[in-house]
Order: sequence, then C-alpha cells, then structure tokens
Amino acid sequence: MNHKISKRSFIKRCAALSAGALCLPGDELLIEEQSAFRKEAMFQEETARGIMCRICPNECVLKEGELSKCNNRKVIKSKLYTLAYGNPCSVNVDPVEKKPLYHFLPGTRAFSIATAGCNLVCLNCQNWTISQTSPDKTRNYSLMPGKVISECIAKECKSIAYTYSEPVTFYEYAFDTAVLAKQAGIRNIFKSNGYIYPEPLKKLCGVIDAANIDLKAFSESTYLRLSGGKLQPVLDSLRIYRDMGVWLEITNLIVPEWTDNFGEIKRMCGWLAENGFSKVPLHFSRFYPTYKLEQLPPTTVDTLNKAAQIARDEGLLYVYTGNVPGNELSDTKCPGCGSMMVVRQGYRIAANNLSAGKCSKCGRIIEGVWS
Ligand code: SF4
Repeated sequence: MNHKISKRSFIKRCAALSAGALCLPGDELLIEEQSAFRKEAMFQEETARGIMCRICPNECVLKEGELSKCNNRKVIKSKLYTLAYGNPCSVNVDPVEKKPLYHFLPGTRAFSIATAGCNLVCLNCQNWTISQTSPDKTRNYSLMPGKVISECIAKECKSIAYTYSEPVTFYEYAFDTAVLAKQAGIRNIFKSNGYIYPEPLKKLCGVIDAANIDLKAFSESTYLRLSGGKLQPVLDSLRIYRDMGVWLEITNLIVPEWTDNFGEIKRMCGWLAENGFSKVPLHFSRFYPTYKLEQLPPTTVDTLNKAAQIARDEGLLYVYTGNVPGNELSDTKCPGCGSMMVVRQGYRIAANNLSAGKCSKCGRIIEGVWS
C-alpha cells in the first residue's frame, strides 16, 4: 500500500492528531472528495412537500439541495442521501466505562467513532464542535465499515461504539458497520439521545448489543427548551431497547437550574421503577459549564448524591454518579447482600469480585453482560 500523502492531507492529519484523534496508518485521514461518502438514505419517503426522512421524530421534509436539521443529510436528484457514510471525524479507543457502560464487558476497550451531526440542539452539548455542524466542515477520516472492523481488531477492542455526536443521524454507516462487526464477533454499542422512531430502532436493535441512552429531563417543556426535542419518543425508545434484549444503561445529566429539580428527578425515577427499569443502571452525570450554558456552575456533589439517594429510594438497584473523580458512587454493590462486586477507579477496574455474573458472596445474579 502506498502511504504517500499530499501536503493538504498531511496538514489535515497533523491538525486532527493535535486535536487528540487516534492515529490511523497511511491514507486513512480523508483525502477524497466529500461526495465519496454519500449513500442513499434508509427510511425515506416521497411526499407532496418533498422527501421525508423517517429516522427520527424531527421528520425533516426536504426539497432538492436542502440540508437536514441534523446537518448530514441532503436531497440530491430527488433522493435523500446521508453525507456521513464512512467519514468519521472522531476515532478513538476508549474504555467501555467512558460511555458510560458499567455492566457491559468491564475493563475492555471500545473502538469509538462519530461523524458530524446531531438531531437535537442541546444548550449544554459537550461535543458541539462536531454535533452542531456538517461533515464538510469537520476534519474526517476515510473509514468505511470494513476498515472500522479491521482497525477495531488491530486495536484489540471488544466492541465498536457509535458515540460522541449522535449515531441516530449516521444510521446507515452505524448499521452497516454493526452488521459486519456482528459477523466478526465484535459487540456494538450505541451511545445515543434515544431520539429515533420505532421502526429504524427495531431494525438497529437486531445488531446492537448495548446502549447508553440519555434521559435529559422528565418534562416535555424542559426537553424542548434544553434540547429542542420531545420526551415521549425517548421513553418509547427506552422500552424498545429493553424489550428487544439490548443491554441498556441510562444517563441523566443534572444541569443546575434546568434539571436539578428533585421533584422531577423523583418522578423520573418513579417512572423508571414502575415501568420495568429498576435493574437498568442509572448514571447521574455532573454538568460542567460549556457551550451555551457557560455561565452556570458545575453540579454540586451534594446534588448528585441526593439524586442518587432518591433513585435508590424509588427502587432502582444500580445507581451511579459520573464525572466526579473519586466519588464512591462508581462501584457496583450486590443489591442482595450489599457486598462490593466491582470497584472502579476512574475508568479503571480496580477489583472484580463477580463469579460468573453472580455475587460471589450470596449468589444473586448481578444484571449485566459480563463476558
Ligand atoms: S435523522 Fe436527521 S434528517 Fe432524519 S428526521 Fe432526524 S434530523 Fe431530520
């Protein structure tokens, strides 16, 4: 393979590497024209007003040349195309704990990819430089699905994570990659906002092994003001993931003045407990000032701990706090006898006392995918 690269691509490559991207060999940093990464979109429908995308509840109806809300789909010659097929802007090897997934293959590595684009517009987005833009404005790799698999194997990762921005919007790329991964015995992880319609989600669940879904708030009005989306479709998605046998964990980011209302947190946890999610790990995540909410303070540790107590009181069995280095609520205890099962230090597993997925003291099953 000729690994000579042009001056332009060399500069792009250096810029990407200085931004912390993973080093891939040879010509993998994008040198092709953007059009090389178009693929006809799945779940499109012709309507009198234009071509409708049926992937997410935004239901974009687009005319010739119009760009979608998620910034990575366009109608070209009367067909809807994804513009983000095989050109991720972020490629990294992460501990699976970073997704966060605490009950899924602990201590393993996830080959993590993202393209530009998102179907929500969260004021607090940590990844807004890639989520709120289009693939022609990011520095991208050329990484078709087959190449993702070979890189994943070369980097000794047990899974591929579709993450960082919003994988719902690079559905075709994620789906095709996940199919190949499954054939190769590699697990697939979706880190998503859950803002997707049931039909594409059910198809996806056939190839996805684990998901961490953001439940951003528990009121329709907060959802709309904070993220530009609706709550109900996310709740519907949670049920589908669970019912289709995908290992599920949920993240709730507590944003001061927005989602730190304990009454709302109690209602959310009550709903989760009453609707069959009591064994689904819930991660309360700490907010740090960012993007359009830079003026707010970080979430206090007290608030996170109080939220965790509310969740436990409502009957949720596995409750964690995240983004809080040194906080003890990152360990897994047996809900039966209280023995310490998995001890985490940051993203590192310091001790794993599970015995074939069960408590080594009392024998109770600890829900998860442990190997
Ligand atoms: S996935 Fe993108 S194009 Fe499709 S409906 Fe959602 S925002 Fe619109």
